[in-house]
Amino acid sequence: MKKKTILTGIRPTGNLHFGHLFGAAQNWLSLQDEYDFYLEIADVQALTDNFSNPQKVYDSVFELASDLLSIGIDPKKVHLFIQSQIPEIAELTVFYSNLVTMARLYRNPTVKSEIAQKKALFGNDGESVTYGFVGYPVSQAADITAFKGELVPVGEDQLPLIEQCREIVRKFNSIYGDVLIEPEAFLSKTPRIKGLDGNEKMGKSLGNAIFLVDDDETIHKKVMSAVTDPQKIKKDDPANPDICMVYYYHKLVNQENLNTVCQECKAGSRGCVQCKKELIQKMSEFLHDFRKKKQYYRDHPEEVLAILEQGTKEAREKAIETTKEVKKVMYIDYFGGEN
Ligand code: ATP
Ligand code: MG
Repeated sequence: MKKKTILTGIRPTGNLHFGHLFGAAQNWLSLQDEYDFYLEIADVQALTDNFSNPQKVYDSVFELASDLLSIGIDPKKVHLFIQSQIPEIAELTVFYSNLVTMARLYRNPTVKSEIAQKKALFGNDGESVTYGFVGYPVSQAADITAFKGELVPVGEDQLPLIEQCREIVRKFNSIYGDVLIEPEAFLSKTPRIKGLDGNEKMGKSLGNAIFLVDDDETIHKKVMSAVTDPQKIKKDDPANPDICMVYYYHKLVNQENLNTVCQECKAGSRGCVQCKKELIQKMSEFLHDFRKKKQYYRDHPEEVLAILEQGTKEAREKAIETTKEVKKVMYIDYFGGEN
């Protein structure tokens, strides 16, 4: 039986963080056996809000690729590829741009909130926002459909972008004929991981992330400044774990002691400093295997490059196939579909 196709992506704007792992990437690991899996490093998308810092995007491609391999993404099962090296995605983006209105793009909740967060880049009211940034959902629709992605495992923040893609697919198919597949989002059990600062989302560009590459000292600094119950002033005051970001992270990496942490916090028999130190210890243990593998890839950068080259080659074959079909139904295959 033919395997179903999965496409998902990640922007090379920094390293993998706990939000990625628990929000989306653990799903990727569990799906890699059963599906034909395309995993895109979305460097063209990263450039939409990092266009003046191309070196950061370039470096992050290799960092992210080796982070992904170190959490267990298996290049024998997954086509790990670089977006910019597949020109067909850029072609499809241009074709799809006629199928979406500016008003619809501006209304996209994810795009709207990201423009608001990037005041330094896009101005207070988004008055300096670029055409490329507002249009990135169109390019993302090209990412998904180029591979005929049926399932897209993502975090919750991506849902409006998948919806946008579905609309583009419906419009395309209704005008030109049934070529594209309407994808479905696939969410994890914890589709939105909060930041230690209490922000609703941990994000690379939000400055509130704990990265998997962070060393113990860096994690220590970040966890020590985490938001806890403001009512707890003294060490033995009882507190509410449900509004404490330290407890929130115990839930992710310290399942086996969760009950004790919760009860002691409520009873006031556990101080925040002790609780934070235990969390730091658990995070460090959790990262043990990752750190070993990451060191291996740091010592063997040529392996990472070869994996990316091979994955990109495989992915491009599929994108070429789809783009040929698209151009045929759009009456733009003048020379027998060879271009
Ligand atoms: P940036 O700030 O540059 O957009 P990011 O941290 O949002 O970076 P992305 O590369 O945009 O990371 O996202 C990659 C994937 O990880 C997406 O599927 C996204 O939904 C998911 N993801 C990112 N952050 C979280 C989070 N805090 N909780 C759940 N999923 C997340
Ligand atoms: Mg993002």
